[in-house]
Parts: sequence; C-alpha cells; structure tokens
Amino acid sequence: MTKDIDYDALKKRGFLRQKQEGLFLLRARGAKGNYTREEFLIFGDISRKYGKGIIHATTRQGLEIPFIRFEDIENVEREILEAGIQPGTSGPRIRTTTTCPGNNWCKSGLIDPFSLYDRIEKDIGIRCGMDLPHKFKIAISGCPNKCTRANSTEIGIHGQSDTSGPERRIGYTVYLGGCGGRTPHEGFKLDKVFTEDEVLSIVERVVRFYKENAKSRQRLALLIKERGKGLFLKEVGL
Ligand code: SF4
Repeated sequence: MTKDIDYDALKKRGFLRQKQEGLFLLRARGAKGNYTREEFLIFGDISRKYGKGIIHATTRQGLEIPFIRFEDIENVEREILEAGIQPGTSGPRIRTTTTCPGNNWCKSGLIDPFSLYDRIEKDIGIRCGMDLPHKFKIAISGCPNKCTRANSTEIGIHGQSDTSGPERRIGYTVYLGGCGGRTPHEGFKLDKVFTEDEVLSIVERVVRFYKENAKSRQRLALLIKERGKGLFLKEVGL
C-alpha cells in the first residue's frame, strides 16, 4: 500500500513516517514554544479523531500527533491549517528557533528571547532564505543557564550580564558550531558580549557563509572543522 508514497513530500508538509508501516505522525510548530488554549483543544480533537488521543511534546518545542493513517493525512492537514496551526519544519533548512521564556516570566531571565526570535524569523528568513544544505538550528536562552541548550546548536545565544565596563549592562553571548545527533559537537563561545543588533548581524553572516560553502548534508560543525576555526571566523568577519 505504501510503496508509491512520496515520503519526502509528506515530510515537507509535516507528516513523518512512523516505525509502524502505514502510520504517520504530524509534527506541528508553535512560535516560541507558546500554544494557546484553542490550539491545544484542536490538537486534542485531531489526536482523538485521527490518532490515539496522544499529543507528544518534542525536544524542540513542537507538538506531535502520532498514529495518523495515510488515508487521513489530507483531512488532518486541512483541519490544522484551517485552525491557523503551522506544520513543523523538517529537512535541510533553518529549523524553528527554540526559546525559553527569558525575562517574560522566568525570574532568572536577563533578555527577552521572544523579541529576538521574531527578528530572526522575519529578518533572516527574508534576507537569506530558509533553505540550506542541511538542517540548521538556532536556540535562544534568557540567561547563562542555557535551558534551551544554546551551546549544542549551530547558533546558540543567551542573555549575559556584562560587567567588563564602568557600568553593568545586559547583552548576549553567542556560541557557534554546536549540534546534537549521532555525532554531537559542543559549540564554541565568542569572546565578547554582543548587542541584539550585533547578534542579528552574526546570525545573518553565519547563515550566508553556511549556505554558500557547506556541502549537502554537512553540518556547520563539520564545515568549521574543515575550514579551520580561525579562517571561518575571519570569513564571517568575527
Ligand atoms: S535559560 Fe535562564 S531565563 Fe531561560 S528558562 Fe532557563 S533559567 Fe530561565
């Protein structure tokens, strides 16, 4: 039954194959990891109607509904799109940026990750395009606790208190070249506390560099290793 299915096309629409033959999971995204009551109700309805009533929270703040039959995909897709919910992003592109709440409500938060998220999604998407040679992840944490694992993603950012000058100021620390997966890499930290505008500029330059230089399916960590860290930093102007 499933031999003629274009799985890559389905993946782009947010439907991924399960281990069980003929079953799919829908991966949906919620901007900044925030979901409304109405969205939860819709997820609940769809999971009960087309799945087994299970909603699973992914490590990158998406929601999954597993156990969807191939023949129900069209209906599930129509219902989530009508509800204004976007399918999750998979494949070779900038994935949904993960954020903690930062100073919006966490008492340790130094910066507002939601504001930076909006600028990354809008500015970088428009200026660089979202399609890249391989998956590319960005994570923002509100403070050095790095709850979104900012040091384990291609570009990791966290709020930082900078006491190096005459007055304490709040800025951003940036890590580059981290990733998880089968061959995990720890990102390296840039030796400066940046402003939000500087962070945006770094993200744009690194994404452009990656887009222009990486081979297909080469993570940023491996591109940096191939180039050499010093040369990489010079090429992105850091
Ligand atoms: S990284 Fe900091 S601000 Fe974000 S959730 Fe963790 S403790 Fe709170």
